[in-house]
Amino acid sequence: GHIKNPKLLNVAGAYWRGDERRKQLTRIYGITFPKKQELDTYLERLELARARDHRKLGRELGLFTFSRKVGPGLPLWLPKGTLLRETLMEFLKTEQVRRGYQPVITPHIGRLELYRTSGHYPYYKDSQFPAMIEHGEDGEEEGYLLKPMNCPHHTQIYADSPHSYRDLPVRLAEFGTVYRYEQSGELGGLTRVRGFTQDDAHIFCTPEQVKDEFKNVIELTLKVLKALSFDDFTAQVSLRDRSNKDKYVGDDALWDAAEQAIREAATEMGLDAIEEEGEAAFYGPKLDFMVKDALGRQWQLGTVQLDYNLPERFDLTYIDAQDQRQRPVMIHRAPFGSLERFVGVLIEHCGGNFPVWLAPVQIKVLPIADDQVAYAREVAQTLQARGYRVEVDTRNEKVGYKIRQAELAKIPYMLVLGKREVEEQCVNVRRHGEQAQVSESLADFMVRIQGDIDALIGSSSNA
Ligand code: ZN
Repeated sequence: GHIKNPKLLNVAGAYWRGDERRKQLTRIYGITFPKKQELDTYLERLELARARDHRKLGRELGLFTFSRKVGPGLPLWLPKGTLLRETLMEFLKTEQVRRGYQPVITPHIGRLELYRTSGHYPYYKDSQFPAMIEHGEDGEEEGYLLKPMNCPHHTQIYADSPHSYRDLPVRLAEFGTVYRYEQSGELGGLTRVRGFTQDDAHIFCTPEQVKDEFKNVIELTLKVLKALSFDDFTAQVSLRDRSNKDKYVGDDALWDAAEQAIREAATEMGLDAIEEEGEAAFYGPKLDFMVKDALGRQWQLGTVQLDYNLPERFDLTYIDAQDQRQRPVMIHRAPFGSLERFVGVLIEHCGGNFPVWLAPVQIKVLPIADDQVAYAREVAQTLQARGYRVEVDTRNEKVGYKIRQAELAKIPYMLVLGKREVEEQCVNVRRHGEQAQVSESLADFMVRIQGDIDALIGSSSNA
């Protein structure tokens, strides 16, 4: 049959089979759909994706930037982006403390010796920044590596003290910044960077505790997804290839039990997880979360990964009830994955309209004339004292202009203050994207905004 509803998307230069010695051709990108309606939906989404591109919105909203002098793939977080990022971190820190995690901090570099033990050096040399090499007195190569992962450092915190089965699980959490040498051609925006911060944690537990720990992490991950209105997500359990068991480290019976534990944890937490055989890492099975954003695109976010390898390589132990030395199991987990990538996905998911609890500026106070500036400052101070992020627009501009600016900055709430508001000691509330205005007392407004926040994250902030 012939092609229906074609649409030309893009034109670019190209070489036959990518060979630069050949004559340049013109490549035409196009797409067709059997139904006009499908084409329209597709084009709408494409247009929306362009408008929501996180690199574009990141610039417009003043969240982050890049500098050629600092280097490609090394994002610089501007004040508003930093507020956003720190709010995400505070949210997760609070939730982690509630679930028995302990915070730790480790340096950005470590000795090559550490990474020789972990196996990261020299095996992943190509994706790491070159090591800082020094030579010892005996001429032996020694030096330091910018950390590509936080796990090796965390094993040394676990190993710092002896452990009894009674004090497991040990859950060590760090917002750890790591560095990987991605090819410069692959860099763009926040989704692929050379330095990024993982919302990392490592759980050291007994094999019997694996199921409960997975349930604990799944529950936390669901809380995170809900807080950010990622309502469409799937989970995948990655199992080993049963016909190729010698590819994997760790005891056969342990693997069987762990895979079953992850499966049960997912089911008991109400996750409709798919299973993929042969997708496990050589060192353990895992559970991945994939979210679909508002544009229908799928992203891989958080991972929960079991590990039999590092406890072995670092000779980690605990003493069991029979006074015997045993090997703990290690679980790597990061609900956001990396803050950079997560924020990039989130910006496009919500089009820069962050939920109130997360918005860098939650409230903009707009005095109509100079006479109301003092009252506006007073209102802002009351709100700030309660922990809200507030700005006052004291510029000598028409209020209509100030409202448009606040709309463009995607600030969730505007408080318009005129003569009447000063006289009646109230505020005129205008929600982002809405025309309607409500006049109410400041106390009532605070109940309203707190209700908005609690609906997504419970009463964990601004308490
Ligand atoms: Zn790890």
